[in-house]
Amino acid sequence: MHLLDLKKDYHVHCNYNDHSPQDLSVERVTRYAETINLKTLAFTEHVRRTSDWIPKYLEDIDRIISSGTKMKIIAGFEAKILKDGSVDVPQEYEGHFLIASFHTKYYNKRDWLFSLKSAISLSYVNVIGHLAPEESFELCDDEIIELSQLLKSNNKTIEINAKYRRPPMKWLQTFKENNICFHLGSDAHSLTEVGNFDSITNLIDYINN
Ligand SMILES: [Zn+2]
Ligand SMILES: [Zn+2]
Repeated sequence: MHLLDLKKDYHVHCNYNDHSPQDLSVERVTRYAETINLKTLAFTEHVRRTSDWIPKYLEDIDRIISSGTKMKIIAGFEAKILKDGSVDVPQEYEGHFLIASFHTKYYNKRDWLFSLKSAISLSYVNVIGHLAPEESFELCDDEIIELSQLLKSNNKTIEINAKYRRPPMKWLQTFKENNICFHLGSDAHSLTEVGNFDSITNLIDYINN
């Protein structure tokens, strides 16, 4: 059994992406997380192979860690699953905590499944973020079971995502039966979203009970 700990948020953004408020600094997010008594805070900024801000981002996080905080702080990334089955992260940062997510639509189940299975098999991917099928296709039971087995054999964690309320309950049932590891991600792009899982109480209750 893998119970979800509501004081651990494994998916938080800050102001190194182009669509969060500019004042959403690593320091402000950390101070806010302290006030709500988080135990674990993972920064997972959107990254691409072309991102040039990574050293400064990691420096900000290092500075916060060495400033002394009781929280466990993780310096990580969220990267896009690409159609060639790779994940859009620069090679030198492959050792960091990494969430692989779909950020573009495929409109094609076969291609989508190919990329997903390939991402799951990559050793440097830790988590599959906000996983759900696209509106234009569904997975049958056998396909969900096969995915579960692949997640299990590759030791991947499935994120329970508060922003998109994913994965779908039906998938969670199969994942839970297959004893997949879960954790929570708020996918916060603003302060008050950090550590806030109110939108997915039903998913959390299903896993924890
Ligand atoms: Zn995402
Ligand atoms: Zn995100």
